[in-house]
Amino acid sequence: MKIFLDGEYVDREQAKVSVFDHGLLYGDGVFEGIRAYNGKIFKLEEHIDRLFDSARAILLKIPMSAQQLCDACVRCCALNNVRDGYIRLVVTRGVGSLGLNPESCPRPTVFIIADAIQLYSPEVYERGMRLVTASTRRVAPAAFSPAVKSLNYLNNILAKIEGRLAGAQEVLMLNEQGYVAECSGDNIFVIKNNTICTPPIYAGALGGITRRVAIELLTQAGHRVVESQLTRYDIYVADECFLTGTGAEIVPVIELDGRLIGEGRPGTITTSLISEYRKLTASEGTPIF
Ligand code: PMP
Repeated sequence: MKIFLDGEYVDREQAKVSVFDHGLLYGDGVFEGIRAYNGKIFKLEEHIDRLFDSARAILLKIPMSAQQLCDACVRCCALNNVRDGYIRLVVTRGVGSLGLNPESCPRPTVFIIADAIQLYSPEVYERGMRLVTASTRRVAPAAFSPAVKSLNYLNNILAKIEGRLAGAQEVLMLNEQGYVAECSGDNIFVIKNNTICTPPIYAGALGGITRRVAIELLTQAGHRVVESQLTRYDIYVADECFLTGTGAEIVPVIELDGRLIGEGRPGTITTSLISEYRKLTASEGTPIF
């Protein structure tokens, strides 16, 4: 396996980052998770754009252009013969001294891994997923914007652990006011009386690229999609619920906190969105070979 590391393609065993890297010492950095399907990278430019936005928000100057990063992602897949897989692109503040001042880091570290991924079993997509609500609240936008895809995932990881302890594969996260924000690694949608709702980004969610694609596909299919503040009640009484994420894709949700959602099986709008999403990912993207 070849890993892109600071401008070179190195063997997995040689792909090492210093213990003085501030990405490790302080979680000071940003990243993207990107998927390849059928020999093409899905929404590559959108992911690179979001990476630059995340970097800008934390005053991190990426030492490569958007085109160079796109090319490196493509090359990394090609070198590893990844036709269907996952790309992890990370930019850290780089190696510095032990203080947290980023001025001690002259050069950001950039690495790209292209590998296989399977987040959830096929059964989850057929039967649906159970969620519980985490008591860990999403980081408040006034403290640090959840729109930044940063290397600080402890907030989400602690919520995920709560979910796992309760036997659920994903967890619902609320914001400080108690409104629905998102899940630990996915955005959330509910459907009630044919209206599709998702929390606005300012409720404390990442601006998901799959979220945007889902809104486009649903709108094209003639559905009404609105961004609105949601409480857990809106999910308990929904007809359908689903999650969106690059790794997770479109996941039907059939239960929250012990309440069955709708009929307790994936709904018709969700099921057709899953198939439209699969069609799109199989046909669109930046060619690898
Ligand atoms: N929210 C969080 C917290 C995430 O980490 C992710 C990405 N895994 C998402 C939402 C979904 O974003 P995207 O569709 O761009 O992968």
